[in-house]
Amino acid sequence: MASVEQRTPANTNGAASDGAITVENPATGEPITTVPVLGAEQLAAMATRARQAQPQWEAIGFDGRARIMRRAQKWMLDNADRVLRTVVEESGKTYEDAQAADFGYTVAALGFWAKEAAKYLSDERVPSWNNPVTVGKKLVIRYAPLGVVGVIGPWNYPITNSFGDCIPALMAGNTVILKPSEVTPLSSLLMAEMMRECGLPEDVFQVATGDGGTGAALISQVDCIMFTGSTRTGQAVMRAAADALIPCYLELGGKDPMIVCSDANIERAANAAAYYSMNNGGQVCISVERCYVEEPVYDEFVARVTDNVRGLRQGQPTAEGTVDVGAVIFPPQLDIVDEHVRDAVSKGAKVLTGGQGRSERGRYFEPTVLVDVDHTMKCMREETFGPTLPIMKISSVEEGVRLANDSPYGLQASVWTSDTERGEAVARRIEAGVVCVNDAQINYTALNLPMGGWKTSGIGTRHGANGIRKYTKTQSLLVTRRALKREPFMFPYTARQTRLLRRFYQLVYGRGTRD
Ligand code: NDP
Repeated sequence: MASVEQRTPANTNGAASDGAITVENPATGEPITTVPVLGAEQLAAMATRARQAQPQWEAIGFDGRARIMRRAQKWMLDNADRVLRTVVEESGKTYEDAQAADFGYTVAALGFWAKEAAKYLSDERVPSWNNPVTVGKKLVIRYAPLGVVGVIGPWNYPITNSFGDCIPALMAGNTVILKPSEVTPLSSLLMAEMMRECGLPEDVFQVATGDGGTGAALISQVDCIMFTGSTRTGQAVMRAAADALIPCYLELGGKDPMIVCSDANIERAANAAAYYSMNNGGQVCISVERCYVEEPVYDEFVARVTDNVRGLRQGQPTAEGTVDVGAVIFPPQLDIVDEHVRDAVSKGAKVLTGGQGRSERGRYFEPTVLVDVDHTMKCMREETFGPTLPIMKISSVEEGVRLANDSPYGLQASVWTSDTERGEAVARRIEAGVVCVNDAQINYTALNLPMGGWKTSGIGTRHGANGIRKYTKTQSLLVTRRALKREPFMFPYTARQTRLLRRFYQLVYGRGTRD
């Protein structure tokens, strides 16, 4: 069967024809509604409207924009049931997963960017005294909005990784067009409704539903593209951004390793391994995707994790607290998970619990623990993106670091030890954009901490100063106030002035040793 990358746009999730996509509930396989597939012409019209709306949105200023974001924050809280239901229905995840990330993240992010945008983007004065030519001048860096920002999002967190990236772009004074995943467009449409109700001017935020072609058409219309999705699509997006010559930020796939040292708190590490590999059905870019455990604690760790995973309830989330692990988003994803488990078993791995998928009513893969795995297996090398946890025994932390780095991905990683100083030292040797010690994933909630991948896991970061500055272009201002009628370096050139200037350079830069 087709892989995620190979699937044909607009045909993965039930019927899709005549420019419409049927959105299904992955937990039941039942259709919810249809949305249109927008094409190049409609995207061009949206971009024109976004371009017209932008100057006024920028002119409203940080306070004006922040007021709308704070209103949106309250709207989300007042409409929590509807927001959660929308996410749960179109993604098949549990209410808890939707609340922890899509809802909780967005409520926090609306407040964070409303408060911090002005600080991150306020004019910066830089010193002028370190160059004789600029002494006494006023030097200023200004962060100006780019214009129209395009955001393309995946399905696994229909709000966090789609609308979530629109918030800083909007706060920076841009207008935004969001292309959500074709399988989870309803949450983004709800966010558009929210922003309208909260007083966002017309065309400042628009949602372009559609397939991969819609995403491609968007790139040619905008001034910057923020993409979250698979590495393969990310490469296509970057090629298109090169053609359009626009900045492009990529948050891509991962294969996050977890290294458990023999001195770790094994109970905590095992609980965390079960949770961070299975939450959101394992469909998290920063899931624990592979685990390396030092020999002395391996047996205890495996027993605890297996016990924990075996007890997880899976099925359709009908209300809060009804299940622990939800559905798999669509058939191609189920195929990948199944293929990784089969491949591992065929090469000698053992399934301790789970191991089977089913798709008669809704799509599910049993929470699965694999042991006796190695790096010849897909489950240790390729992104699985499902409820599986392969655990490998290691003879030393050194070996763990080597195996952790034996990957094309470099999104996140975690190290578990009671010696946090040593843990930090190990973390610094792992090739990943984020490494947690005795934790995982929750760094995503620290909105002032950059998050982004190394290697094929991405380019650029979200959160922190760069998370909003990337949606701006810098303008440097040099202002000369009190000035001579003629600068010493201006025409006409004279030997005396040239010698004087040279002496000046000597004075400023010539001191100090020359070793
Ligand atoms: P995809 O790469 O399949 O799709 C992502 C988005 O790109 C979708 O909206 C998709 O549309 C669109 N798209 C597809 N083709 C093109 C194209 N040629 N030009 C422009 N846009 C296009 O990813 P998934 O939706 O399957 O998401 C899962 C992936 O996302 C995983 O690899 C995961 O690791 C990664 N991810 C990374 C995160 C991070 O922060 N690093 C966070 C969350 C997920 P359509 O749906 O219509 O095909």
